[in-house]
Amino acid sequence: MAVIGIDLGTTNSLAALWQDNKVTLIPNALGDYLTPSVVGLDDDGALLVGKVAQERLISHPHLTASCFKRRMGTTGKIALGEQQFSPEELSSMVLRKIREDAEQYLQQPITEAIISVPAYFNDNQRSATKAAAQLAGLYIERLVNEPSAAALAARMSNTGEDQTFLVFDLGGGTLDVSVVDCFDNVIEIIAVAGDNHLGGEDFDNLLVDYFCRQNQLVYSTLSPATKAILQSNAELCKQQLSEQQQVHMFLRLEDQTYSILLTQELLAEIFMPLLKRTEKVIQRALADSNFSSIDDVLMVGGSSKMPIVRGYVNRLFSKAPTLTRSPDVIIAEGAGIYAGIKSRNGEIRDIMMTDVCPFSLGIGAKNDRSDLRAHVAMMIERNSLLPSSISKYFTTLHDGQTSLNISIYQGEEFYADENICLGELNMPLPSAPAGVEGVEVRFSYDINGILQVEVSHEKTQVRKQVVIIGEYNTLTEEDIQQKLAELEKIKLHPAQDEQNRLLSAWGERLYTESLGEVRENIVRCLGYFNQALNSQRPHRIRQARKKVTDYFEQLTQQHFIGNRQPSDFMPDTDQGDEE
Ligand code: ADP
Ligand code: MG
Repeated sequence: MAVIGIDLGTTNSLAALWQDNKVTLIPNALGDYLTPSVVGLDDDGALLVGKVAQERLISHPHLTASCFKRRMGTTGKIALGEQQFSPEELSSMVLRKIREDAEQYLQQPITEAIISVPAYFNDNQRSATKAAAQLAGLYIERLVNEPSAAALAARMSNTGEDQTFLVFDLGGGTLDVSVVDCFDNVIEIIAVAGDNHLGGEDFDNLLVDYFCRQNQLVYSTLSPATKAILQSNAELCKQQLSEQQQVHMFLRLEDQTYSILLTQELLAEIFMPLLKRTEKVIQRALADSNFSSIDDVLMVGGSSKMPIVRGYVNRLFSKAPTLTRSPDVIIAEGAGIYAGIKSRNGEIRDIMMTDVCPFSLGIGAKNDRSDLRAHVAMMIERNSLLPSSISKYFTTLHDGQTSLNISIYQGEEFYADENICLGELNMPLPSAPAGVEGVEVRFSYDINGILQVEVSHEKTQVRKQVVIIGEYNTLTEEDIQQKLAELEKIKLHPAQDEQNRLLSAWGERLYTESLGEVRENIVRCLGYFNQALNSQRPHRIRQARKKVTDYFEQLTQQHFIGNRQPSDFMPDTDQGDEE
């Protein structure tokens, strides 16, 4: 049975699948690839999804809803006429439409999908996406991050050499920039940055403002219907300017016609404030990634079709060619390819996607008795590689304290109670003076959003654990057990990795065989390598392993011992690091 990949976008959604050795986009009932993520009711109360609903955004705003992806993971309701809907219910209607159209097109039932979500989506948002899928009759084994999907699609069409991408995804309402590193069969997100209020709509707004100014119209005095028409004219003109050098933008109001002539140069001037904001986001992602060079820039999202956007981003990367093939479908293609991999399609080699945790996880803690409010003691930091497993030791704060309460938080706020509380555990302890008794706390978190928290007390051998799964997770009990077994495996520190152990052992042997400055260099090399191991990030470990191996090899080959200028070979430990 086919598994399809779905890009559930804020503005548009679409599906793809792996078929006959390639990824194929699935057209909807209208023959379009893009289905607007818009839901509405018609005058008889029947459900409308996609383009039909979108057409009615202007004429029937109170019966139509759009942009509900922005509200995913919140408890807010959205009204359609008299009825109230949750964001996941509205998303499920889009998913159901996509599913039914795909079933029609493929002539087979579809019950399973891979859905892409923004890399920064938190647990609640991911759970809500899974809930939406469940409501639409789709089983979701996992979600895939949008930038990973884009990188996967881009990699299918090239030689598979190691590559670092900057994924620039400018959609209808948001800009997401990610640095994604690909090597062998691993796709790793290194850093994410974004602006939640920078997308195609903001470009439309600037155009509307400009139009009004040029025609002495006061926007706030226009009727809602006129505003909506202006907005949609602006979007149309903006899109036409992706193909043409100039267009006229019109508005007919009563018996008057207002117009402006738009050229590429003028557009660049009007849009400059937004272009400058994209640059800031790019710089933040690059700075967070600590990567000095990017091999390719992937232009993703409908708004990346604008020549001025491409030109602007291109100029920021003088050397990097920007890949712009089909920006608005590349994420769906990636999700489709991944769906193919998941259904074990022999033709595609297995690909491991590693992702970063988009938020921090920790426990509530007080440093001393004078602390009135608990802060968060960090366990798994934002942008840590997943799956991740980290263990720390916590002690009592009061004399005679007979238990420790472990509250689990997700978020970036300093005070514990300002973050999302995911659960708690209480651990009994033998009475003792403050600071004597303590517990080992381990957090293990995987990409499916399963967080396992284990607390153990060594002396009494008491061990407790909670498994926190997003509220709407569609995984079965059996799946969960399997994922937990996988998490068990990763608790092994990467230092235990055979290749890595070998390198450390090699260094230790060279140390015993050498003297003086060479010895010091070997110590520095091993320290540098250990730091990389402790980061638990595969690409950093790989980089360090390569540098250190090169150095050790040269030492060995040159029969260096005691009589060679060793600093020739010293790996440059400051370069290419990312933390
Ligand atoms: P999302 O990821 O938010 O669902 P998309 O990637 O589909 O959105 O992008 C939608 C945005 O792309 C809209 O603002 C739309 O106006 C814009 N867009 C689509 N095609 C073009 C084009 N040819 N030129 C300029 N903008 C475009
Ligand atoms: Mg998108």
